[in-house]
Amino acid sequence: MQKVDVVVVGGGIAGLTAAIYAAKAGKQTVVIEKQNRLGGRAISNKKKGAYFNLGAHSLYKGDAYATFRELGLTLQGKRPSSFAYGVWKGKLNTLPSDMKSLFTTPLLSWKGKMEFASCLMKLSKADNRQFDRISIREWVEGNLRDPMVRNIFYSLLRAASYVVGPDLPAAGPVLKQLQNALKGALYLDRGWGELIEELHKKASDLGVRFLTNIKVSSIDTRDGIVRQVLCKDGTKIDTHYVILATSPSIAIELVPFAEKTALHTWKEQAIEVTAACLDVALKRLPKPKQQFAYGIDQTVLLSNHSRAAYLSDDGAQVISLIKYQGKEPDPDKDLQELEGVLDLMQPGWREELIVKQYLPKMTVCHDFMHMKRHENPGPAVPEIQGLYVAGEWASHGEVLVDAATASAKRAIQHMLSLEGKERNAFYEHRGII
Ligand SMILES: Cc1cc2nc3c(=O)[nH]c(=O)nc-3n(C[C@H](O)[C@H](O)[C@H](O)COP(=O)(O)OP(=O)(O)OC[C@H]3O[C@@H](n4cnc5c(N)ncnc54)[C@H](O)[C@@H]3O)c2cc1C
Repeated sequence: MQKVDVVVVGGGIAGLTAAIYAAKAGKQTVVIEKQNRLGGRAISNKKKGAYFNLGAHSLYKGDAYATFRELGLTLQGKRPSSFAYGVWKGKLNTLPSDMKSLFTTPLLSWKGKMEFASCLMKLSKADNRQFDRISIREWVEGNLRDPMVRNIFYSLLRAASYVVGPDLPAAGPVLKQLQNALKGALYLDRGWGELIEELHKKASDLGVRFLTNIKVSSIDTRDGIVRQVLCKDGTKIDTHYVILATSPSIAIELVPFAEKTALHTWKEQAIEVTAACLDVALKRLPKPKQQFAYGIDQTVLLSNHSRAAYLSDDGAQVISLIKYQGKEPDPDKDLQELEGVLDLMQPGWREELIVKQYLPKMTVCHDFMHMKRHENPGPAVPEIQGLYVAGEWASHGEVLVDAATASAKRAIQHMLSLEGKERNAFYEHRGII
């Protein structure tokens, strides 16, 4: 039996961030991770000298970037050129990404070019929170007239959110993500695994303890108060605070009578987003100029991350492709479609192939801000004193990893703000104490 101030369940980016901020506040903290390594979905694997993330990952200038900088992480890598192609009717066309490509793209009429440029200008300055209550479709149809400008925006907003349909995502958060993307995405040297190593080191330096390969099986919350964390291997840890940095469905399994808490609402309203991910390492690029493409009438994206990041020890080019999936994905068809896009961009790639990785259905996020959401999850589970949630799904308007870091910090801030008298008032209000 051990006793600590804070137990974090899950050692992904949300869990690591929460642990660091708890330790910085002087709390004795333990992270418990069921896998034998930390990182969750942000790990990287080295295959035949090439570094592969679990699908294409880029870091935008949002909450996560600011948090990692605040923590002193080095974040080695570069911002790639934004020069891009659009896949339309099975052909490649230059997309407007700078003045030259705007004027030369065959996709847009003169009127379309003007509308595209003026919309991007407006977007770069807009406060997008005003669009939190309308869908992407409503925003596009209310703000853009030219059909091809609409198509291109749908494609950019899909890439920003990973969500296929424009009717569900709230427009505000995705427009903000697009704004951040337009400031330049960062591709990390050696993949996101380096980020995890840096977070791990930072946490260890602050005294956080890690238990890996140990699965949490339940949280003891007698009388509506967090008391103990129980693990499958028999480990028991007494604690005042638990941060559930897992998916909403795992969170609900770990908490007795969770169906009577907000965890139930958060799980019921959650909409999962998945993608098929194909990554290839090639000896050389058959078409060196064709490195980045958005699907316009296909829900795909291709990016050669090696054009900006160090991703292989021997100069191999690491290309990531994503197929944004809808409700009923078909892994074989998705692979065929992704290979088709690679044929279009890099004809003859099979002869240059060193190694490939295909992940047919990755969960990009367990939930996001969408039009059917009743409430934003967390930070506190109001019915149980000392219980918190964090993770990309606990978004209050942030997207993907920004939601993971922001929710983790919200949990710690809330925990600290309720210490002493105020905490009693918070829970009395909810009828627990
Ligand atoms: C294909 C793909 C592409 C992406 N691209 C981007 C991108 O370009 N930009 C971006 O910002 N984000 C991107 N993301 C999202 C980003 O990877 C996630 O937001 C982030 O990694 C989520 O971190 P997390 O800590 O919330 O969850 P996770 O990484 O899933 O961590 C949860 C952890 O909890 C552990 N766990 C679960 N149950 C238990 C238990 N009972 N006991 C102990 N441990 C437990 C799990 O093993 C896991 O390690 C992408 C994701 C995918 C899949």
